[in-house]
Parts: sequence; structure tokens; C-alpha cells
Amino acid sequence: MIRFTIFRLSNHQPVLHMDFARRQKEIDLFASLINGDANNREIKRVQVMTEALKERLKLLDVVGDKSYRAKHFLEEIPNGQMFLIVAGHIEDELEYHIYLTQLAKINGVTPEPSTMDRIGSYLWEHYEVRIYKGDDRRRIGVDDKSLRVCRFCGKKMPEVSFKHKAHAISEALGNKGLVCLEECDECNKRFNESIEQDLVQMMLPHLLLHGISGKNGIPVIKGDGFTMKLDTSTRATLGLDTIKYILRDMPNNKDPQNILAGINKDYEPFLQYKPQNIYKCFCKYALSLMDSSELKCFQDTIAWINEPITKHRLPPIWHYSVNTEGKTWKQTTSMIIMRRKHVGKDLPYCWAIMIIAGEPYIFIIPFCSQDKYKFVGKMRQDFFMNGIKNMMQNVPFQPRDMSGITPVKTRIRLSFEISPDCEEGRDYYILEPEMQK
Ligand SMILES: [Zn+2]
Repeated sequence: MIRFTIFRLSNHQPVLHMDFARRQKEIDLFASLINGDANNREIKRVQVMTEALKERLKLLDVVGDKSYRAKHFLEEIPNGQMFLIVAGHIEDELEYHIYLTQLAKINGVTPEPSTMDRIGSYLWEHYEVRIYKGDDRRRIGVDDKSLRVCRFCGKKMPEVSFKHKAHAISEALGNKGLVCLEECDECNKRFNESIEQDLVQMMLPHLLLHGISGKNGIPVIKGDGFTMKLDTSTRATLGLDTIKYILRDMPNNKDPQNILAGINKDYEPFLQYKPQNIYKCFCKYALSLMDSSELKCFQDTIAWINEPITKHRLPPIWHYSVNTEGKTWKQTTSMIIMRRKHVGKDLPYCWAIMIIAGEPYIFIIPFCSQDKYKFVGKMRQDFFMNGIKNMMQNVPFQPRDMSGITPVKTRIRLSFEISPDCEEGRDYYILEPEMQK
């Protein structure tokens, strides 16, 4: 197989992977397409789009339907604009960034300053970066069911089945498109009923506030005398959703301050999770997303994910807040996986950022055979985090110990204010309670 990566200037889809069989006919076809001459096999990295090249795109018709994406991709490049053809499948997000920055420069376009510039130089030195976004359609693993091996139990057909679609990140967290083919039905069911539930329960308030719907729509949160839901019917008129709190013990009173005093307190919804299961679940997602060739150094990690919840010393998970205004990852559930590209063992071999409902969490994948240290001691952690703090300046990172094995309950604090100059009927309404039928 001959593989290429094509880069173009586009905000929408700047990168395309293209494959050609290493056969005379196909090599001729590619040379004819790009150079207009089947005998000229030298494919220059920097190309200029011309009308003639666009004319030649119909040569791809012989390839059939699968050429549609490539044709469409190349057709959209304006005539006279430069694009790049690079040998091999480039998948590292930092390499993308470098190629696209160069491409912008040779086209005389000022590249938009990107956080990648700063983040880039640190990561570039140590890590390979892969980004997985929940709205991408991607099937990870071997297509042929008879050749699949489950990543988590190591079993194949007919011992296990692969009938159900296994989302690489739970669908309830807003992932629609990332599917792991190499997770058997048994493991899928087991994770679904265990660690994935813990994570969904922990994230439920965020999922509700962001209006992220799973299979059964946007979640509703219930507790004793307390229900919280998102009403999206106001989106069309107000451009905003409405959060509805339904409280059983509303004070029977007409004075707003009095009402507030009665309802402003902590509520305890029926939500609980075991912290270590959150950690396991994050790691399980990472192992579902990465290439299966990576898994050999995570066999102990897989054993840990599979075992009943047990006490372990684990590194913390770092949570941080980002200003999501105008940022691209606003609501897309995604994971960014970093894999160390050198043998220096001072840094963890693999760590990742999980973003759910705009909330980012940094975690190290523990029990990796490529690691010399466990990153549970303060010194090791500080060394790791200093690198990250350096590239993400002014971001307050909050370490959270997620090694706990006893359930933690979620609390929701309601705190409404009605300023004294608000008027009833203008700024707020007090409705008569509905009669119980
Ligand atoms: Zn399995």
C-alpha cells in the first residue's frame, strides 16, 4: 500500500489520508492525476491547484465510490492555492499543526495563533499526540469479526460474541461516533453495568446543564423531594434552555426572600460513584481508542480495570477549568492521548485529557510496563505537572484523589437570589401551587 496525507488550507477539514495499492495501474493513475503524466512518478510535496488538475480528478472515477472523499477534498481547493502531499499516514496532531502552519506561510496567509504553538513545543519534544472527538465517525480495531480479539478479556469468537456496538466512550457522555470494534458483548455489558455507570453518575449534573443527550435523551436528576431537568422548549424563542427545579418542600409564602431562605440549601440527588471506578473508566476509554499494537504494554492496566475494586495508590486526576467561550471543544466529548516517544522514564509513558461536557480531566495511565515510576509520590507528580503548567500557563489545576473505593455522593447546592428591587409580575412570578389530583 502506498499512503499519502494531503494538507489543504481549510477550517473545516484540512487533512485527508489517501491509499493506493502498490500496483502498476494504481501508481500510473496517481502519477497521471497529480503530474498529468503516468511516467512522471515523482510526487512533489508542495503542489499548486490548477484547473487542469481539477479536470483530471475524473480519472479517479475508475476507483469507484471510495474516491468521492478525495475528489471532493481536492475540488474544494481554490485554483492557484498551494497544498501539500506528504508520504505516509500522518496522524500525530502536532505534525498536522506543523504542516498546516507551513502551508499557511507558503500561501502567504497568517496562521491563526493557536494554543498548539505553545503546547506544541513541549509535547513535540516528548510525546505523540492523538485526538479523538466524539462527533467523528471512527471505527477502531479489526473489521472482520472472525479475526477480532477482545481488548479486555483477550477472547475471540466463538468463545465470545461481537454483536453489539461498543462505543469507545459511553454514548451517554455524548460520544456518537467513536466505536471500538474489539470489545466483546460480555465485556461491553460488564463495563456498562459497572465502571461506566459510576462515571455517568458523577458527570450527570454537567451532562444535564450542557444538554448532552444519550440514548434516552437529556438526563433528569432526581433526589428526595428534588427533581432537576432541562427544558429545551425555550431554545427557539430565547436562544437558551431553561433549568427546571421541582422541589417538594416549597415554603407556602408570598415573600420572595422567605421562599429563597427555604429552598437555598444542599440537595442530595440519588447519585453516587466510586472514585477509583472513574479512574478505571477513563483508562478503559483510552485503551479502547488507541491502536491495538499499543496494548501490549498495558496488560497490567487491563488486569486492574477488570479486577474487583481494590485499594491501590494511584496518581491523582487533575481537573481544571477552561474559558470555553468561542473555543472549539465546547461540548464535544473528546479524549487527547499523549504517548511518550523517547525512553526517558522521568515522564509517564502515556497520559491523556478526557473532556466531558466541557470539563477536562488529566490522568496518567497507571500500571504501564514502559514506566519505571508510579507517579504517586509528590516529587514525580510535580515534575510531570510542571511541564504541563509551563505549556498551559495560568490554568489552575486541581488534583483530585480518585483512588477511593467507597461510594461518594453528589451534592447540588441551590443558591438563588432575588434582589430587593425586583418586582413581582415584572421580574419574577409566584404561581399558586397546583392542586394534587
Ligand atoms: Zn471481552
